[in-house]
Amino acid sequence: MKRHVGIVLFLLACAAFARAGWATPAGCQALRKHGRDAQECFAALTRSTDAYERAEGFWGLEQWEQANAQFRLATAPEDSRAMYKVRWGLLLHERFNDSDAAALFHEALNKEPSLAEAYVGLALISADGFDGHAEEYAAKAIALDPKLAEAHEVMADLALANDDAQTATAEADKAIALEDDALDAMAIHTAIELITDRSPEAWLAKIRAVNPGYGEAYARVAHQLELHYRYEDAVIYYRKAIAADPQLWAAHSALGIDLMRLGQEQDPYQELELAYNNGYRDAATVNSLRLLDSYKNFDTFRDDTTMIKLNKSESALLLPYIRAELHIILATYSKKYQMTLPGPVQVEVYPDHEDFAVRTMGMPGLGALGVTFGEVVAMDSPSGRKPGDFNWGATLWHEMSHVFILTATNHRVPRWFTEGLAVHEEGQRSEEWKNRVTPDVLVAIRDKKLLPVEKLDRGFVYPEYPAQVIVSYFEAGSICDFIGEKWGESKLLDMVHSYAKLATTTQAIQKDLGLSPQEFDQQYQAWIDKQYGAEAAHFDEWRAALRDLVAADEHKDYQTVQKKGPAVVALYPQYVDDANVYELLAAADKALGDAKAEAAILTQYEHAGGQSPDALKQLATLEATAGDDASAIATLERINYIYPVKNEDLHHRLGDLLFAQKDYDGAIREFDALVASNPVDRAGAEFELAQAYYAAGQKDKAQDSVLSALEIAPDYRPAQKLLLEIQASTTKSN
Ligand SMILES: [Zn+2]
Repeated sequence: MKRHVGIVLFLLACAAFARAGWATPAGCQALRKHGRDAQECFAALTRSTDAYERAEGFWGLEQWEQANAQFRLATAPEDSRAMYKVRWGLLLHERFNDSDAAALFHEALNKEPSLAEAYVGLALISADGFDGHAEEYAAKAIALDPKLAEAHEVMADLALANDDAQTATAEADKAIALEDDALDAMAIHTAIELITDRSPEAWLAKIRAVNPGYGEAYARVAHQLELHYRYEDAVIYYRKAIAADPQLWAAHSALGIDLMRLGQEQDPYQELELAYNNGYRDAATVNSLRLLDSYKNFDTFRDDTTMIKLNKSESALLLPYIRAELHIILATYSKKYQMTLPGPVQVEVYPDHEDFAVRTMGMPGLGALGVTFGEVVAMDSPSGRKPGDFNWGATLWHEMSHVFILTATNHRVPRWFTEGLAVHEEGQRSEEWKNRVTPDVLVAIRDKKLLPVEKLDRGFVYPEYPAQVIVSYFEAGSICDFIGEKWGESKLLDMVHSYAKLATTTQAIQKDLGLSPQEFDQQYQAWIDKQYGAEAAHFDEWRAALRDLVAADEHKDYQTVQKKGPAVVALYPQYVDDANVYELLAAADKALGDAKAEAAILTQYEHAGGQSPDALKQLATLEATAGDDASAIATLERINYIYPVKNEDLHHRLGDLLFAQKDYDGAIREFDALVASNPVDRAGAEFELAQAYYAAGQKDKAQDSVLSALEIAPDYRPAQKLLLEIQASTTKSN
């Protein structure tokens, strides 16, 4: 019955328009959907005596303010139709006001609880925010009105974002069976073909047959490609969207953002500015323009294989550390993954977390630490984070794993696998950077909430509970740990190659590991239970015991902390975050004057992955006092991965220790960092740097540094002496 509804509406609209000279909202929309000129139709609506029709007319003419005002009028009467509120909400959603839009959908549902269209509206808003309720709303809409094609289209879109091509295909087919001009369903089909590397031409032809100017179809395809890491293909489709409809400002903005992800600056600026100047001013457009503008505050450092962008305020300090680590990573991964990258990798480091957040906007997943787009990595700077919260070294290993895996698979890899492998690689670099079970994860293990491996992707994209993204990172990482442990690291590379050949997770597990995904889930679950089952079962006991210890610490009852602490650590040794037992015990040991016990517990904390710079510095002090300079150096070097910024005493102490060990290159690096930290005693820092250069035999640099010291403090005796010594030795050697 409903099969030809679009065409029928379209014909009716033409007939009515020609005959009576009046128009209906549905008629005008059908005209536009089929690529006909609908301007006059909408203009006629603006002259209607009915406020709702005027609202639709102004909306069709993109006169947003007037449309908004007319919707306000139309919905004012108590007995106005609930559907008007839904339409108004959709207008607001289109104009970047999701909170008011959601309120209108809820008001509509209060009036008419079975209004399926209102649930479609809520699903659209949830999908944009990745808040996890979108599928639930779409399912509700379908249950209320199975013949609502739009609800099936939304469901298809969500399923494909979750990498469930089967459901996406079925839902898109249902929409097309209901309305043979369901353009968005055709777009989903196009995206499915592209994502599975088949030709999209047949579906594109169908879209063109309905409306060659429907740019939104291509933009929808592009967005799905982005969600599947296919940024370069997404550019192609955003360009097609613009070619079909040059005034599709949303596509101009999305194209600009996608080009930024690929490391460009000029083209993105033009696209974003064009969108902005034409009134398309959503948060993503505005913030991306602001970010492009802030690039003037960055320095760019290039060598053969890397391009590093650092904020001018910290580039001198951070560059040596980041560049050195990046080269270790490139060498390690090239060997492990048996490949080299096609070009230099670009790493951007943002001291302002808001700037970094712009980079991850509209992308699902955690995105809290870093994000990778092909060969561009963007990440927080340690200076933008609370000391101890963040390890830039681990983050860089994580993101660079993505760069290699996305390249190796030509961007054909499921999210869970690339995330899992990246988490696994952090632990390969350092036992202390390993995937740790946080309380959220323990609770999920206890409550049997880990997902089957075939469904793990949805834990990242549309989580069902707030902690599910974090839990999914852990699960994906530990699955890769498990595979590495049971089948060997090389099987992980085999799986990479299978994904490159377009295997599904089901196929990759079957082929490379030789068992079904269900058997895999069983074995993995048994492995997890063996490792964490006891901890998970004792979680509540641990939490209660920890609370008692914190109370004892607050009452300065250090004997109790010392007596009971070790048993609480044993209940959950991986816990090193806020109010951890290691630090409580160390404080008790310190108060009771037991330096040896304090050093021992802080060493345990360090090996468990504890990252508080203050606690680690205290450990280094204890180690140095006990005459163990090598351990003190190793401890302080850990802090360089955590919080090398605003940390002048770290570089000073480490430089002195390295100098005493005759590790002059290390000492130069640290005194350089000290100078770059804008120390209070700048002359002293330059002098120490000069000493290290001199000891390393780099007399020219030693002289430059000592002259810098004397420029600041001309009467600085030790510096004067060193200068004379350098000059004397230079004359001698000539
Ligand atoms: Zn990641």
